[in-house]
Amino acid sequence: MRSILKAHWDSKLPIYEISHFKLQKDGIKSLLIDVDGTLLSRQSNKIPSNVKNWIEESKKLFSLYLISNNPSDERIKKIAKELDLRYKSKAYKPRKKVTLDVISEMNEDSKNIAIIGDRIFTDIIVGNRCNIHTILVKRLSRNGLPVKFNLTLFLEKLISIFLK
Ligand SMILES: [Mg+2]
Repeated sequence: MRSILKAHWDSKLPIYEISHFKLQKDGIKSLLIDVDGTLLSRQSNKIPSNVKNWIEESKKLFSLYLISNNPSDERIKKIAKELDLRYKSKAYKPRKKVTLDVISEMNEDSKNIAIIGDRIFTDIIVGNRCNIHTILVKRLSRNGLPVKFNLTLFLEKLISIFLK
């Protein structure tokens, strides 16, 4: 059995370098996208321009939905509004309820839906538990570039080895 801790694609790339062509080739039609760390740093309110461009291109090809664990609806609402996307805050990933609600709203076969996020213990686990495609991306820092060393991910991967 595949581990629920393992992403289908551990991209080692920031989201803005994820290939739209590859997503299409993998049959992806809808994307659930994590916010903090994935689209911008948790410590920042500014969405990097290359992330904005990537989102704009994605909109032409996929159905998008932001799904965040952030308890601040105000923050996630503002980001979603700026990108003109639907969103959920307080998603409680890796709990399934909110993610399943979004999946049913997408009205798409689960094999054609992917979740993109920067954490194993929230984004990847919930995606695997909900039977959708899972893509791990590099966390973005305040300057909009990928962080050089991601302690959270390092620890999550370490723990994953022991949970195997
Ligand atoms: Mg995140």
